[in-house]
Amino acid sequence: MFNSLSDRLTATFKNLRGKGRLTEADVDATVREIRRALLDADVAVPVVREFTGRVRERALGAEVSAALNPGQQIVKIVNEELVEILGGETRRIRLAKTGPTIIMLAGLQGAGKTTLAGKLSRYLKAQGHSPMLVACDLQRPNAVTQLQVVGQRAGVPVFAPHPGATSTELDHPAGDPVAVARAGVEEARRTLHDVVIVDTAGRTGVDAEMMEQARQIRRAIVPNEVLFVVDAMIGQDAVNTAMAFDEGVNFTGIVLSKLDGDARGGAALSVSSVTGKPVMFASTGEGLDDFELFHPDRMASRILD
Ligand code: GDP
Repeated sequence: MFNSLSDRLTATFKNLRGKGRLTEADVDATVREIRRALLDADVAVPVVREFTGRVRERALGAEVSAALNPGQQIVKIVNEELVEILGGETRRIRLAKTGPTIIMLAGLQGAGKTTLAGKLSRYLKAQGHSPMLVACDLQRPNAVTQLQVVGQRAGVPVFAPHPGATSTELDHPAGDPVAVARAGVEEARRTLHDVVIVDTAGRTGVDAEMMEQARQIRRAIVPNEVLFVVDAMIGQDAVNTAMAFDEGVNFTGIVLSKLDGDARGGAALSVSSVTGKPVMFASTGEGLDDFELFHPDRMASRILD
């Protein structure tokens, strides 16, 4: 992902090599190229506008460094602004001070939530935590089984409703995702798991009922983190979906999934900027280890490499 954006930006900067001084016309031509490259990569229009505006302003401003030639200076500015739109600093999971840290996953069906539940469990286990998974996706017939398989692979227990249980059986309520979420968190507390990851239902598109259910789960379990998982391959839809989820569940962080794909990826670059929420993790494959903490500075350097 980002290969073509990366090539375009590198080519743009190459044109500046050897220039001793940049005129306003040079800066404008460069900014125009950057704008085209970002738009072609699917970065959202308002994000592009703000980004190029800031690059232009800074490139024309008084930031003169004796150590860098004008071309290098623009690369530095673009790098810093890219870090900014990706959320700035690396943001780690905020752990609860007492009781289990509660992490809720939200996103469209197919975004990669269930897979992420396994990856995140594995990652947290490696850091010495003892995670438990809770299966609240009761919409899709196979979702609970899928989470159980993921849990088994990651070596973490999964709290799920018994098939056929009734909603009056408090410790294993069936059919009601909010009750399952609440009971799952209680179970984690009782069994001394220090992290509980709650998988929720997704739909193929945002709908009011699904959002209301996610909102109710959020209200019931008061999570420390609500991670919005977004498929980086879905292009411009990523931005609208992110805004709908942010309004619906006020998520605290973003997970970009399927970054291993060859889509243009710019929409994924826009999600943090349009919501003001940080990208926290990147998913880069189907395997449990294809997952990393997201470092905005490293991603920016990779794009400008
Ligand atoms: P959910 O509906 O949000 O729970 O999504 P799933 O976790 O079931 O993932 C949907 C599909 O995407 C599955 O086939 C996963 O194997 C696949 N998938 C998930 N994350 C990634 C990723 O980072 N890269 C790739 N290539 N595939 C992924």
